[in-house]
Amino acid sequence: MRRPVIAGNWKMHNTTEKARELVTLLRPLVGTTGVEVVVCPPFTAIAATVNAAAGSNISVGAQDLFWEDWGAYTGEVSGPMLKDLGCRYVIIGHSERRQYFGETDATVNKKLHAALRHELVPIVCVGETLAEREAGKTLDVVRRQVQEGLQGLVPGQVETLVVAYEPVWAIGTGRTATAADAQEVIAFIRETLRAMYGEEAQATRIQYGGSVKPENIAELMAQPDIDGALVGGASLDAISFAAIVNYKE
Ligand code: PEP
Repeated sequence: MRRPVIAGNWKMHNTTEKARELVTLLRPLVGTTGVEVVVCPPFTAIAATVNAAAGSNISVGAQDLFWEDWGAYTGEVSGPMLKDLGCRYVIIGHSERRQYFGETDATVNKKLHAALRHELVPIVCVGETLAEREAGKTLDVVRRQVQEGLQGLVPGQVETLVVAYEPVWAIGTGRTATAADAQEVIAFIRETLRAMYGEEAQATRIQYGGSVKPENIAELMAQPDIDGALVGGASLDAISFAAIVNYKE
């Protein structure tokens, strides 16, 4: 049984004060769910968020990490630093990082191994652009991202991993993939992982991300291979994010 995991990616939003306010509102609203709840603030608000979430069932994740642990890498933040702050999760290879900061499947792979080395749960993002979808290349792109970005895992790591399928054309646009389209690609991701790593891939949780809202979460979660969601815009509002987390009610 895969426990659903719903994560909020706050992107470049929220000061420490706002982060505290948001988590304080959220805590009582997500107290009784069987879903794993994660919020991913910007680096500057991680400590405040961890503090505000202490004793609740909200875990905290970062939005990125660097693959080296220490050294002359101005501006970077490493796995040991995130662990030190109390992070449990880290998003890797979000399409905005691929688009604006030159991340590739090779850098995603290095970051994945760094996260696992420090017992951070990686949430690795994959997904096609609109042009790739329209050219009929969705499955080729996603296969390459999975085969190259997720290579070199050992038994025990595949079940820890979380993958987020996020079609780039659905992120922040209000356009959601249909539940059936999302299920098709996510089943394909699981099949690709199974070809690489065998039956352990049945335990890997695969989220959908891209304009997830309270109105569409239940249909997405009803699909057999969708194990949660990575939520951007709607995670900035406690009521909306809680409604997504409590999709069963
Ligand atoms: C995201 O940032 O990963 C995302 C899916 O954003 P949104 O929910 O706003 O589309």
